[in-house]
Amino acid sequence: MAISSKYERAPDERISWLASIPYVGLHVGAIAGLFVFPLSGSMVALVVGLYYLRMFGITAGYHRYFAHRGFKTSRWFQFVLALIGSTASQKGVLWWSGLHRHHHKHSDQPEDIHSPQRGFWWAHHLWILCPKYDETPKSQLKEFAAYPELLWLNKYWIVPPLGLAAVLFLIGGLSWAFYGAVVSTVLLYHGTFVINSLTHVFGRRRYETTDTSKNSFLLALLTMGEGWHNNHHYYQSTANQGFFWWEIDLSYYLLKVLSWLGVVWDLRTPPQWVLEGKKRAYGDEPSFAFPAELIDDMAAISALKSAATGEPATRLGELALKAAETAAEVAERAAKAAESAKTKMRESAAEAAERAAALAAEAAEAAATTRTTWSERAAQAARAAAQSAARARATC
Ligand SMILES: [Zn+2]
Ligand SMILES: [Zn+2]
Repeated sequence: MAISSKYERAPDERISWLASIPYVGLHVGAIAGLFVFPLSGSMVALVVGLYYLRMFGITAGYHRYFAHRGFKTSRWFQFVLALIGSTASQKGVLWWSGLHRHHHKHSDQPEDIHSPQRGFWWAHHLWILCPKYDETPKSQLKEFAAYPELLWLNKYWIVPPLGLAAVLFLIGGLSWAFYGAVVSTVLLYHGTFVINSLTHVFGRRRYETTDTSKNSFLLALLTMGEGWHNNHHYYQSTANQGFFWWEIDLSYYLLKVLSWLGVVWDLRTPPQWVLEGKKRAYGDEPSFAFPAELIDDMAAISALKSAATGEPATRLGELALKAAETAAEVAERAAKAAESAKTKMRESAAEAAERAAALAAEAAEAAATTRTTWSERAAQAARAAAQSAARARATC
């Protein structure tokens, strides 16, 4: 495909052909096996069923939960999501989601590891075969590094796909293993990788973003909703990526069902100003930038609370106080921005102030569990944040 590469690859960005043998071997095997194992209706069902089940592990688990925290869930179900995602053979959950956060920070800039600006096939899959990017960027995901079971799964990510192949073999012999673990996995690779390559090349753009992301109905069907990639780049931390009813998003529908069952909760959806973005051209005025560090700290606090890894209370208390004070500062900054902003930006600033106040209250509550002097200071910060938020809302 003739896509011009804007950025040159660094000399150390070479593909390791030795490490690529399993990946290439799966492709060769998938084609060769078709001549050995007859295709039947039930084998098609197996391929499609395992494709969509594991696509859900990647989209809802690896992507929307671990990389973007678009919803909340329990410790056991977060493990289930990571486990299903791992059976897709796309390396460890923390590796995948950590590098994905990096992609959003630097989308289509020279630092973006898999921008199609560095070549279409590089963005699609060659970058994964480059040893330079083998390491899990743990600094990008400090909140999940508190869970030993996730660290284990991240390191031994190869165990779930091998286990799946073994189970398929035991149930239906070689033909089941071939269609379920080889053919379905190869299709799933490319179903996932088109999000890094094609959705930055083909489709329509609703939102003016600084990257090349696009929306595609067809890719959304193949990827359970990930084809609404321009929506996603514009507003990342939602559980849904189809923002309107006609934007089909299978991952979100399933998450919605799971939320009715109480398995997941707090599904984040885009605020009103994002939905109205097109009509009212919000794009020409920036929205209030909410600091990502605060979100990270809050996640680290809840991980410390639920992981109960024997961390001393001091760590939790200090972190909670810091988060409460940062949130109070953010709320105050947002309130000032709301007062001086033009109408368009006001709402986003008021929303940010309210969100900061909610986080401050949550942090103060976490600090209170440590029963230390931090808790009183955190509570003070939370009260200040609430006042700023009320002021910001009053300007709208
Ligand atoms: Zn993303
Ligand atoms: Zn992207």
